[in-house]
Parts: sequence; C-alpha cells; structure tokens
Amino acid sequence: MQAHYLTEEHVMFRDALRKFIEREVTPYHEQWEEDGIIDRAFWEKAGANGFLCMDVPEEYGGMGVTDDYRFNAMISEEFSYACASGPGIGVHNELCPPYIVAFGTEEQKHRWLPKLATGEAIGALAMTEPNTGSDLRGIQSKAVQNGDHYVLNGQKTFISNGISADIVVTAVQTVTNGKPDGLSLVVVESGMEGFERGRNLEKIGRHAQDTAELYFKDVKIPQENILGELGKGMHYLMHNLAQERLLVGIAALSGAEEAFRQTVEYCKSRTAFGRAIGKFQNSRFKLAEMKTELTVGRVFIDEFIMKQSRKELTPEEAAMAKMWCSEMSGRVIDQCLQLHGGYGYMLEYPIAKYYLDARIDRIWAGTNEIMREIIGRSLGL
Ligand SMILES: Cc1cc2nc3c(=O)[nH]c(=O)nc-3n(C[C@H](O)[C@H](O)[C@H](O)COP(=O)(O)OP(=O)(O)OC[C@H]3O[C@@H](n4cnc5c(N)ncnc54)[C@H](O)[C@@H]3O)c2cc1C
Repeated sequence: MQAHYLTEEHVMFRDALRKFIEREVTPYHEQWEEDGIIDRAFWEKAGANGFLCMDVPEEYGGMGVTDDYRFNAMISEEFSYACASGPGIGVHNELCPPYIVAFGTEEQKHRWLPKLATGEAIGALAMTEPNTGSDLRGIQSKAVQNGDHYVLNGQKTFISNGISADIVVTAVQTVTNGKPDGLSLVVVESGMEGFERGRNLEKIGRHAQDTAELYFKDVKIPQENILGELGKGMHYLMHNLAQERLLVGIAALSGAEEAFRQTVEYCKSRTAFGRAIGKFQNSRFKLAEMKTELTVGRVFIDEFIMKQSRKELTPEEAAMAKMWCSEMSGRVIDQCLQLHGGYGYMLEYPIAKYYLDARIDRIWAGTNEIMREIIGRSLGL
C-alpha cells in the first residue's frame, strides 16, 4: 500500500512480516518447490508471530482486526514481493475462516478458529469439482441425511492447501428427509473416515503450493459440522467471494510491482551495443508504460482496500480489481521477461517464476470471463 494509507502500527507490522518471510520462508522456498509442498512447521511459526487469522475476533484466538483490511492486504503484498507463492496463506486466512466466523455457531467457532489462528490446523475451501468450476450450481458432491448425521460422497479438484488441510469448508448438495435442500456448506476434517486426498497436482507454476484432489467416500458428517442453514450455500459463497477476488487483485498487482522493480535494475546493468539496455528508447518507453499501468493499479487497489475495511466493497468492484489487476500483471510481467532476454526464460531468475506464478490469477477465484459477467450484470444487462 502507499505510505499515506498506513499508520505507524501498519509500518511496524509490515517490517516484522518482511523479516519473518526473509527468515522463515525465503531460505526454504527452493526446497519446498522441489517437494511440491511447504513444511508444516511454517504454519505454527506464522501463527506464533501473529500472521494468521487477522480478521478473526480475539475471543476465538484471532488477531481481532475486523475492520481494517490493510493487515490482510500487507500479507498478500509481502508474500508476492518475496516471490513466495508456496504458503497458501491467503486461502488459510481469507478463504476458510470467514465462513466459520460469519455462519458458524458459537460451538463451531470455538472448536475450529483457535486452531486455525495458531497454525495447528490448516484451512482450505473446496468448491471446484472435475465437472464444474465456473458454474457452482453444478456441484455434484452430495451429503444425504441418515438419522442424526449426513453421509457425504463426491470429489473435489484443484483445492489449494488440499494435501495439508485439516479444516475444509466444503460446498455440497444436501438432501434432508429425502428432499434436496440445494447447496450447503459443511466442514470436512482431516481424519474423518472416508475423507481421502488424491494427487498433489503438477502445475506450471507455484510449485511449492499443494493443490490437490479430494475424495469423499461415505464420509459421516455430523450435524455439528454443517455451517449455517441448509440450502444457503450459494448465498454464503457469494458473501465471501468478493474478498477472495480483492485478495487476488492485490497479489497480482504486487507481483507485477516487484517484477518491474527487478527489471528496471536489470535494464540498468545489462549492456548491449555498448550501452545499458535501458538506454534504448524502446526499453524506456516500455518501462514508462509499465510504470504508468502499475501506478494506476496501485491507486485503484489501495482505494478498494480501504473500501473493504469499511465493508463497502461491492461484488462488481471486487470483480474489477481481480480482472484488471491480473490482466495488467500479465501484460507487465510478460514485458519484463522480454527485457531480460534469454535470462528471462531461465527458472533461476525470479522473473521466470513471476511469469509462471501470475498466469493462474486470470483463472482462479472465478475466471476473468466470469468477472466480466458479474460486472456486466451489475449494469442491468
Ligand atoms: C492452481 C489452482 C488452485 C485452485 N484453488 C482452488 C481452491 O482452493 N478451491 C476451489 O474450490 N477451487 C480452486 N481452483 C479452481 C478454480 O477456481 C477453477 O479452475 C475456476 O473457477 C474455473 O473453473 P474450471 O477450471 O472448471 O473452468 P470452466 O468452468 O470449465 O471454464 C472453462 C472456460 O470456459 C469459460 N467459461 C465458463 N463459463 C463461462 C461463461 N458463463 N461465460 C463465458 N465464459 C465462460 C471460462 O472462463 C474458462 O475460460 C483452483 C484452480 C487452480 C488451477
């Protein structure tokens, strides 16, 4: 965020977070990329240092920053600046707990949130299935009432933190007394009989982040694991998807800002035809255009971060943030890679990782085509 949006407290938080990433993330990241998953120890360290569950109330173990989205925003920014895409911290902090906070009973909040806040448990959100992603109404996983519990069968795919997650907020169809309720949210927990992990999927980027298939085979879901009212799942998902989309917009912008910063340095040090490559008019013009786009993006996103803090961000604004920032980041990082020449294509250069990591931002949290649908519909069309 730009400095004028931050107080002394935010600046101290950012400094502590940056040091934490330098100490506990960057030195391990290459190994995590080879492993395809991060070390579980990361989560408890992040919890102990106060970087988990920022907007979960203190009474449930969270950091209690319920009306200041800047803390969540800084977490997205700093992990992007460090090119540390391994920890699915945005999923853990912003995709899973908000449903428990908003729709859970007191008992559920006390049962799950403190463990998520310390990092003892890892969170995930499971919506996507092999046959449905954009159209969530097509979800087929089904939990059928059987006496005092439900029996869940089905499959999910592409689930971030899927291999490591302990608490999975899961969207399923429910059937009660033989009648379909529609989409509902249930919490599936690690260790439940019949809850199995499939493959840790191989991706073109974000190699240290686990993305998995999940299988449910006659999983017994007690009543106490149903979140909110049956049949309200779609409504509940809509409630939080705006925050998820702002999160993607922030991370995309921040990754592009850092890729750009590194590229300016590269253009000053790399020479061709007897001069720094940044001295070519083409390079200067490209960099000037990129700087302008990044500045537009930063002003735009900072304003939305403040709106989200006031709970005023609309779903269509969140869709704009996600769509525009991810597309701008794609344009900028592609140009940055071009300015690195052949070195840009080498994985040992961060610019190559930024390029590969950024591609997903146009797809997940709802594709950019779906974002255009949301914005278009808000125009009454
Ligand atoms: C690395 C990764 C991590 C992910 N993490 C999670 C996670 O943690 N939890 C989770 O639930 N999901 C997750 N996803 C799933 C992700 O959100 C979906 O992939 C995404 O929503 C698109 O769904 P789909 O892949 O089924 O594509 P489809 O819905 O099959 O879409 C295919 C194409 O058709 C287009 N399309 C579809 N409908 C329309 C329309 N109405 N108008 C115009 N075009 C349309 C899409 O834009 C896209 O270009 C993840 C995906 C990836 C790759």
